[in-house]
Amino acid sequence: GASITAQAITKTYGEGPAAFHALGPIDLDIKPGEFVSLIGPSGCGKSTTLLLASGLEPLSSGTLEVDGKPLTRPLSEVGIVFQDHLLLDFRTALDNVMLQQEIRGLDKAVIRERADMLFDRLGLKGAQKKYPRQLSGGMRQRVSIARALVHDPSMLLMDEPFGALDAITRTQIRHDLEMLWLETRKTVLFITHSIEEAVGLSDRVLVMSTSPGRIIEEIKIDLPRPRP
Ligand code: ADP
Ligand code: ADP
Repeated sequence: GASITAQAITKTYGEGPAAFHALGPIDLDIKPGEFVSLIGPSGCGKSTTLLLASGLEPLSSGTLEVDGKPLTRPLSEVGIVFQDHLLLDFRTALDNVMLQQEIRGLDKAVIRERADMLFDRLGLKGAQKKYPRQLSGGMRQRVSIARALVHDPSMLLMDEPFGALDAITRTQIRHDLEMLWLETRKTVLFITHSIEEAVGLSDRVLVMSTSPGRIIEEIKIDLPRPRP
């Protein structure tokens, strides 16, 4: 995993009279392989923090470094999962996982091998040739996790990945994700509404508050980690 270091980052959406100061300044100091959760009320800037860390949204001010360097495009260090799986309806699960990286020019055989490994680890055996609508909500979200990881990024950013799933499905995916994380130790930023989920998964929970979004508390968790 990569380190993520942010100093006094802020985000203002829009310009002039319509400008809205959504976030910060906040600092982040996330260690390689750390699992960090963001919790806080709706609108406190959790998604904005994630988008800034991903490089998909530009900072309004401050500096952000991944492994001591500014993020550069293509964003090969980054894998993202959103609440809505955002899979392509008319592509198979396997195509959905591979396509973006094939387009980016990664070696097809290498991605295929990683895709097979991820389908296996994420409980997706037999789902390769299925289309998204033939899969349950939980399976679709597993496919989007596989897509986020197929290029072996050093950080995994997840914005309420289990938000739309029922409790049993959540628990199962959470378990598989944790096992995979224990093996790979990618740096994770994880947004959730569930304090229980944040505490159960993370090394550290950042509690955010609104107007403008900021970090008001940091809770270190000392989890007894199972061995993979
Ligand atoms: P959270 O993820 O904690 O719910 P967000 O980061 O989505 O919070 O949003 C933080 C604030 O910024 C909210 O007030 C939201 O309405 C606003 N916001 C988010 N995205 C945009 C945008 N693209 N344009 C304008 N305002 C935005
Ligand atoms: P580039 O501008 O270099 O093509 P992108 O903005 O397309 O980079 O995204 C780079 C990486 O960020 C992708 O490989 C993917 O892991 C992640 N990503 C970007 N957008 C999405 C998305 N909508 N869904 C899932 N992952 C995404």
